[in-house]
Amino acid sequence: MKNLMTLLMAASLLAACGNQTSSTHPSEEGDEPNSAEKTIQEKNNQKQKEKETEDKTNREDSKETDDNSKTNTQAETNERAKPEYVLNDVYSVVPIDDAEAKVVLLTIDDAPDKYALEMAKTLKKLDAPAIFFVNGHFITTPEKEKILKEIYDMGFEIGNHTYSHNDLTTLSPEKQKEEILSVNDKVEEITGERPKFFRAPFGKNTDVSRQIAKDEKMELMNWSFGYDWNEEYMSKEKIADIMVNTNLLANGANLLMHDREWTNAALEEIVKGLRGKGYETVNPHLIQTPRNEE
Ligand SMILES: [Zn+2]
Repeated sequence: MKNLMTLLMAASLLAACGNQTSSTHPSEEGDEPNSAEKTIQEKNNQKQKEKETEDKTNREDSKETDDNSKTNTQAETNERAKPEYVLNDVYSVVPIDDAEAKVVLLTIDDAPDKYALEMAKTLKKLDAPAIFFVNGHFITTPEKEKILKEIYDMGFEIGNHTYSHNDLTTLSPEKQKEEILSVNDKVEEITGERPKFFRAPFGKNTDVSRQIAKDEKMELMNWSFGYDWNEEYMSKEKIADIMVNTNLLANGANLLMHDREWTNAALEEIVKGLRGKGYETVNPHLIQTPRNEE
């Protein structure tokens, strides 16, 4: 069973975001999340405790300034939200204090291509928050800029997924920097807020991308599971079923989906199915990042 799950996890990481045929394994620290689960869980508990104490101190320190402002931009409001969750070493969402543990994080990658706006509307209707990880090459026309703004204005988090979705491990440091920073600049220009989450194409980070994420105060994440780039699941029925019934579904799971036709078609069913199993969708604004932990 454990082997099967490790295999599944490896397969899902390997195939992520589609067409990758590279023979190198794209995953990073999350390589064997299952076998390492227990130690990681213990580490997380420790981390959580440390963060808890830090947070309490921070909150008390910032109380005074918090009360002062009455008119906030959405960006300020988002950054002010008191973090209730942290990402652990395998990018699952875990509660800091007594927040609900039975949650999942919804993420939509490779947006805004064709279906992101419709997906955002579906999620909004269901009151299900999510992160849209965007690529700069999809935001080059006024129409697409408007769509991005619309998604942001609906309250969704906009994450950075690089400009052209290239494998960062094949690019020079300069090029990597450009791939990442140009998206932050673009998103900020359109929405007024700089992305605070980063997800590398194919989940393949480099020392450079990690450093840029750090400098830009972005939280870096891969995912727990996703299937919609796999031919076997390219139908509404198949993807709706596996996203809810996979045995990788667990508390805090980080769900990877894409701006794709079948995922768009299945989205409502997926959210309802997750809720049917008792999982609520966590609001990304409540996840601790280098931005809101200050
Ligand atoms: Zn992608």
